Amino acid sequence: MGIRSVLDGGEVRKEFEKRGIDPKFIPQIWKHVFANCAKTENDWDWEKYVPSLPSSAYSLLRSNFKTPLSSSLHSVFHSSDNFTSKLLIRLQNGAFIEAVIMRYDTRLGKYAGKPRPGGLRATLCISSQVGCKMGCKFCATGSMGFKTNLSSGEILEQLVHASAFSQIRNVVFMGMGEPLNNYSAVVEAVRIMTGLPFQLSLKRITISTVGIIHAINKLPNDLPGLNLAVSLHAPAQDIRCQIMPAARAFPLEKLMDSLQEYQRKSLQKILIEYIMLDGVNDEEQHAHQLGKLLETFQVVVNLIPFNSIGTLSQFKPTSEQKVSNFQKILRGSYNIRTTVRKQMGQDISGACGQLVVNIPGKSLGNADPLTDIEDLVI
Ligand code: SF4
Repeated sequence: MGIRSVLDGGEVRKEFEKRGIDPKFIPQIWKHVFANCAKTENDWDWEKYVPSLPSSAYSLLRSNFKTPLSSSLHSVFHSSDNFTSKLLIRLQNGAFIEAVIMRYDTRLGKYAGKPRPGGLRATLCISSQVGCKMGCKFCATGSMGFKTNLSSGEILEQLVHASAFSQIRNVVFMGMGEPLNNYSAVVEAVRIMTGLPFQLSLKRITISTVGIIHAINKLPNDLPGLNLAVSLHAPAQDIRCQIMPAARAFPLEKLMDSLQEYQRKSLQKILIEYIMLDGVNDEEQHAHQLGKLLETFQVVVNLIPFNSIGTLSQFKPTSEQKVSNFQKILRGSYNIRTTVRKQMGQDISGACGQLVVNIPGKSLGNADPLTDIEDLVI
């Protein structure tokens, strides 16, 4: 891979080393890019906006990058309640991706009879690929097929664009794509997010996967402390294969073994995502199967009400009553912490299973106007 973005840490570092430039300047460059990224090609001047670099660094930057960011913000859609904003981002190669900002006020409600501590916080849902090859039947991105992997810099640029609208505290890799199918770029992007100038806490970054076993096995060493979310969506292999064709390559039994090992090494809770599909995986027997499957784990189960994705969808949402019953079984019979995901941003197609890439008058990929984002946790 060549350098696509100045935030492509590994590639930029290699170029610096090749030319004998000290890589210690790289975070300094990123800091100024972060602060001045709104400048366009006509306005941008590396010497002016990124001071005090060696002349060889300027010549490298000038020859590779005309603008501070390789991607540009095409448009932004805000939900009517302003809790959710969807960013449509155009990559250098002309492809589009989406990122979604979700804002929460943790002070809402009471805790132990007192106002909750905390305050406003924003979570950014980030894409790791253009399209996705996993083909989950309930997901609009899956219908696009796979187009390309994002570079680590292109992943990070979503954070830079989003930071112009909200101070981002949490990042979830639940946008377009299966992050563990783009492993090295995602790992590099996460490492850079936790350093200067972003300085996010690793415990506030979540990677969501359908269960790519060989990559899950590497995560505790590569990103210790990271949050892992697994899109399980069914308590039995046959139902998983029916709604997530890629699950054929990752038998449930082997996946659970790998999660046991992950938990043993990481000592962290795992978030289990479970999309509720009427008549498919939402019966009482499924709740009991899921409870038995998970009772030896430290997990939080997040039940996700299904969003209709228009004509692409062969599924119907589960009724609220049934979701509540499912939750009661997991909690009451198996003592598993179980939440029901709050839906946000449905009026801008920024909710789970929706997102992307709906440019007025322009169709992207072979999907209908709707395209997606996968799952929005936290
Ligand atoms: S749900 Fe996630 S893994 Fe499945 S097709 Fe959609 S983006 Fe890919």
